[in-house]
Amino acid sequence: MRVILLGPPGAGKGTQAAGIVEKYSIPHISTGDIFRKNIKEGTALGTKAKDYMNKGLLVPDELVVEIVKDRLQEDDCKNGFLLDGFPRTVNQAEALNDSLGEMNVSLDKVINVDVDKEILIERAVGRRICKECGATFHVKFNPSKEEGICDQCAEKLYQRADDTEETVSKRIEVYLNQTQPLIDYYQDRNILVTIDGQQEIKKVFDEIVVALGA
Ligand code: ADP
Ligand code: AMP
Repeated sequence: MRVILLGPPGAGKGTQAAGIVEKYSIPHISTGDIFRKNIKEGTALGTKAKDYMNKGLLVPDELVVEIVKDRLQEDDCKNGFLLDGFPRTVNQAEALNDSLGEMNVSLDKVINVDVDKEILIERAVGRRICKECGATFHVKFNPSKEEGICDQCAEKLYQRADDTEETVSKRIEVYLNQTQPLIDYYQDRNILVTIDGQQEIKKVFDEIVVALGA
């Protein structure tokens, strides 16, 4: 199963990814997670990406594309993968096509998680993530049992540096200008399925599973 999760920041991609990768036994490839890990570890890539991320801008294509190309060559991607947050530009989508072509494989589905702009800011600003396992919560919509503590591993939750109202607004604007065109791009290739992301988390998941084939 080779799948892309598409949607604006805060749509619920990461939340749904957790269930999808478990159900289909495929790796979760989140370019945002890769950058955050590099920033935490102080790598050269992290240093290059940090300023763009904190401003809510996209990291330049040439930095992102190589990382994903390399990641797709790894053994665990042989039977499929879930891309979350990549591609984000038509240029990245073309590069992905080229890579998959070289690997003699193709995408099965692009799941477009659709959420109104007005809801996205509240979702992202209230997002809390586990430092240890990456599980995602929301202070109001999906609270952890104990405030600030992960349900799964009891570690502390943190708030992303780019989850401020100002930066999220910028990220939504960037999404509308640079990423939204991918909806038509994949629609034209007949692999796009749009899911209403404003339903309960479980309902969104059930609809994704129907779209992917149980
Ligand atoms: P993305 O990866 O698309 O940026 P996340 O999965 O991190 O989005 O979700 C953003 C925030 O919204 C998180 O705090 C998450 O708990 C919450 N969330 C995700 N899906 C839903 C939903 N269907 N209803 C309400 N809140 C949701
Ligand atoms: P995310 O975790 O998907 O919300 O991504 C967080 C930030 O990482 C984005 O706002 C971008 O700055 C950067 N980023 C993640 N994926 C990409 C990508 N495919 N292309 C460019 N920048 C990206």
